[in-house]
Amino acid sequence: MNKCVYCRKEAVYFRNYSGEQLCKKCFIKSIEKRVKHTISKYNMFSSNDKIAVALSGGKDSVSLLHLLHKIEERFPQSELVAITIDEGVLGYRTESLKIAKKNCRLLGVKHYIDSFKRIYGITLDTIVKFGKKKLELSPCSYCGILRRKALNIAAKKMHITKMVTAHNIDDEIQSILLNFIRGDHSRISRIRPVLEKAPGFIQRIKPLSNVLEKEIALYAFFKKIEFQTRACPFLETSMRQDVRSFINKLETKHPGTKFSIYRCFEKIRSYMAASDEKIDSLYCETCGEPTTQKICRACQILEDLNLFTK
Ligand code: SF4
Ligand SMILES: [Zn+2]
Ligand SMILES: [Zn+2]
Repeated sequence: MNKCVYCRKEAVYFRNYSGEQLCKKCFIKSIEKRVKHTISKYNMFSSNDKIAVALSGGKDSVSLLHLLHKIEERFPQSELVAITIDEGVLGYRTESLKIAKKNCRLLGVKHYIDSFKRIYGITLDTIVKFGKKKLELSPCSYCGILRRKALNIAAKKMHITKMVTAHNIDDEIQSILLNFIRGDHSRISRIRPVLEKAPGFIQRIKPLSNVLEKEIALYAFFKKIEFQTRACPFLETSMRQDVRSFINKLETKHPGTKFSIYRCFEKIRSYMAASDEKIDSLYCETCGEPTTQKICRACQILEDLNLFTK
């Protein structure tokens, strides 16, 4: 029997990148400690913040909600809520919405739900149907652009001061490598645990950015947290998936690869930020939301689809 390096009880997990054998309790503690450390290292919150978790119902966002709920108990002046955007993917989002609601009820967290249908007058299912003939973007691109804007609108309505997203270290290094491959240097330097403040945008924070995706799944499993396991039918089978499987293969063969890519990137990001050109913030002439162009990407998409409803 392998013994936990901390308490000598039976180990259930071998953390190959650090060489530690861990029991269930010590593993859970280690994840909570790491998230707390990330929060304080980047000074993510103030004691009176009104924090919203972008809650999809998947393992990352549901675990993040549970983690922050526990951490937030020590800060009675702050407030934690959850926001779910229903993109309108029949079957898939209907199920995750139920799970998201259930978790909020369990924790006593206020849950705000809005939808593409209400905000834009159209569901993602319909966009994909139209987009197949008319547009070149992938479903995830439509979804990402429209969801970001929807979350920002919802957060402003609720007077949120920090919007928390569940990006983990796997998501972050996939984005880093993807932008390297595409040669998009300006986007690379914007990948960070605390996004810069910009007029009209609720500041976005990523407390899981130092935790492996598989360890978040294990945390949820050990804590018996209910989350959606089914994948979205539109999940891209594009370059991100190729990068993901390439990094996973490297990590299996050379444990610790993910952390070294991320650490190295953190060091070079400071140099990149210094040489980055400043992007002017504007307000969209169509919807009034913040943007860097005259018309925001979401409005451009909807205009292309000729489906403006408001
Ligand atoms: S997989 Fe793509 S389309 Fe599906 S919910 Fe996620 S971003 Fe949206
Ligand atoms: Zn232990
Ligand atoms: Zn707009």
